[in-house]
Amino acid sequence: MWDFQTDPQYQELLDWADDFVRDDVEPLDLIWPHLQFTPLDEKRRSVVDPLKERVREKGLWATHLGPEHGGQGYGQLKLALLNEILGRSQWAPVIFGCQAPDTGNAEIIAQFGTHEQKERYLRPLLDGELFSSYSMTEPQGGSDPTQFTTSAVRDGDDWVINGWKYFSSNASTAAFLIVMVVTNPDVSPYQGMSMFLLPTDTPGVHIVRNAGLHGEAEGQGSHALIHYDDVRVPDTALLGGEGQAFAIAQTRLGGGRIHHAMRTIGLAQKAMDMMCERALSRETAGSLLSDKQAVQAFIADSYAQLVQFRLLVLYTAWEIDEYDDYKRVRKDIATVKVLMPTVLHDIAWRAMQVHGALGVTNEMPFLGMVTAAGVMGLADGPTEVHKTTVAKQVLRGYRASDDVWPTEWTPRKRDAARARFAEYLDLEVGNQ
Ligand SMILES: Cc1cc2nc3c(=O)[nH]c(=O)nc-3n(C[C@H](O)[C@H](O)[C@H](O)COP(=O)(O)OP(=O)(O)OC[C@H]3O[C@@H](n4cnc5c(N)ncnc54)[C@H](O)[C@@H]3O)c2cc1C
Repeated sequence: MWDFQTDPQYQELLDWADDFVRDDVEPLDLIWPHLQFTPLDEKRRSVVDPLKERVREKGLWATHLGPEHGGQGYGQLKLALLNEILGRSQWAPVIFGCQAPDTGNAEIIAQFGTHEQKERYLRPLLDGELFSSYSMTEPQGGSDPTQFTTSAVRDGDDWVINGWKYFSSNASTAAFLIVMVVTNPDVSPYQGMSMFLLPTDTPGVHIVRNAGLHGEAEGQGSHALIHYDDVRVPDTALLGGEGQAFAIAQTRLGGGRIHHAMRTIGLAQKAMDMMCERALSRETAGSLLSDKQAVQAFIADSYAQLVQFRLLVLYTAWEIDEYDDYKRVRKDIATVKVLMPTVLHDIAWRAMQVHGALGVTNEMPFLGMVTAAGVMGLADGPTEVHKTTVAKQVLRGYRASDDVWPTEWTPRKRDAARARFAEYLDLEVGNQ
């Protein structure tokens, strides 16, 4: 059965979320930009807590997780429809308790954590009381995890972590870190790496600097370079068992990637909306911009890209719900990841162009969107690496031709077709 409809009850909740985000949440992006991952001071708490409460009352808090972990168990498809709305705003995911990177981190603690780890880290994370950071990439290379060298060595009942990590988002405001390290250098990296959960204030964790994205002041961003310098953690800090890091990372990154894609739909739609409004408002050389063929092509191309992307994201979310197995959905998650930067970039770029000089100013959000497109092409792995994944997965469904000629080589197929219907062909010849 194929069904492209949202159930009416959930649609009512989505309509509520749409108004709520527009009226009450998007204004936070303007008064407190980039502060969504900073622990709340009294002033911000007095605004933010009641907003979160309204989301809870509507049953839309932390919808990415099942009821056993404090979520609603709505699944990924419904989350996708909600995330499309939340993607318009920096603050909205935090207000709805489903912000990256905390969603991915919460998912792996929920799936692989011990009871004690869930009580200590997952519970307050889901309550929206603290933030977390995922510390995997290293300065010498992020795309290839087999190059990671940060290690943990056993010392009695403890482990001692040493090394460097780069681009650990939100580490400077996070209460805890999930760090991926080498625990056995003598086996393949796929079996020799493990993950640890540790409070950010553990002695020896040094945040050396924070890289900012374009537009942020140098050194004042939220992507940390961390030196782990003889950081001692107990055996109970191990997440999911020794040597399990790759298996855990696949779970985390699969979820994280599709959640980014859901929000990207919302951001691209926002650019599209602005482009259309401007096209209908601005007149030049005797007609509206919307009457110019070049601008019409911008709009048509943007609509086509966005609709195709949205359908693939929703389909992939449906697959995750259906199969409950990220490995099985890997090909489509990677395809979504490949498309995401281009879709956002192209639509934001055209919308910016249609706005003329105003479009490139810091009074409009387009350059931020273009930067976000660049980020989408790197965070959770570069586009090129995901293309390789897509190709490998696609090729699994094929096999080599049995001889030098391709299966569809016409001369051989024609001979086979003639042989198949020889009886009738002879008759035709006979009739001539
Ligand atoms: C905004 C943002 C947030 C991030 N947050 C986190 C975080 O919270 N935690 C964390 O651990 N990391 C985080 N990262 C890091 C991210 O995972 C890495 O940037 C990414 O994996 C790429 O690694 P790299 O930057 O070292 O690039 P490199 O590995 O040096 O790759 C550079 C380029 O080389 C090319 N390339 C690389 N490999 C291949 C290949 N196999 N085939 C073809 N071309 C290739 C690609 O063009 C690629 O962009 C974040 C990154 C960004 C931008």
